[in-house]
Amino acid sequence: MKKRMMKIGDISKDTIKRLNAMSAEELIVWAFENFGERAAIGTSLQLTGTVILHMASRHFKTFRAFTIDTHRLYPETYDMIRKTEERYGIKIEKFMPDESALKSMIDRFGEYLFFIDRAKQEYCCYVRKVEPHRHALATLEVWITGLRNDQSEHRKKMKKASIIEEGGRKILKLNPLIEWTIQSVWKYIKEKKLPYNVLFDWDFDSVGCVICSTPLLKGEPPRAGRWRWFNLLKEKDKKECGIHASNE
Ligand code: SF4
Repeated sequence: MKKRMMKIGDISKDTIKRLNAMSAEELIVWAFENFGERAAIGTSLQLTGTVILHMASRHFKTFRAFTIDTHRLYPETYDMIRKTEERYGIKIEKFMPDESALKSMIDRFGEYLFFIDRAKQEYCCYVRKVEPHRHALATLEVWITGLRNDQSEHRKKMKKASIIEEGGRKILKLNPLIEWTIQSVWKYIKEKKLPYNVLFDWDFDSVGCVICSTPLLKGEPPRAGRWRWFNLLKEKDKKECGIHASNE
């Protein structure tokens, strides 16, 4: 008999408690087994995304994964998307900025508006990342991310499983590797000989858009390489683009 798929309304406080006690791999399996195509891995092909995609591929021939193509990603990231698709035989769905919103933004402020001030950077992130990401979330009920507690003050508070509000709907957000350290992520990748974005060999801690994400210097905290020019201002802590900041 065909298994009944769950709905977001079926998730009780007890379910959340149970999910928070699961291992990373158990959580990923639970998500796809219970929500099928209404669950998806959201990945920008960071190191944690590499691990999560691999874990999913160990149990499922096909599963949903999506990325936000801001049109300003590094060539190495596009290469990594292609390699991942080939390795796992999946198609990573690409959500992109709305063309007219992008054109209007560039016409008004230029391609490099993020240098002007914080508001323009946020506007650029909104058009290129946040809006396409909303469209991605509108297609699912379970969003699987690669966030880790040790990445920033903001991410320290995040849990493995929680219900969030998105566009007036509830979504189950799963962060299977939330308690992992960067060392354990690397260990997993090396042990399993997984392909990864080569920019991580160039001291990147997180890889995003060209110019806006840069390698870390020795001793710098994670995410210091994002929007590096703002480090000179007293805004050091604000290192989220809006995708993970707005709905917790
Ligand atoms: S990271 Fe930079 S280029 Fe990418 S969307 Fe944000 S401001 Fe724009």
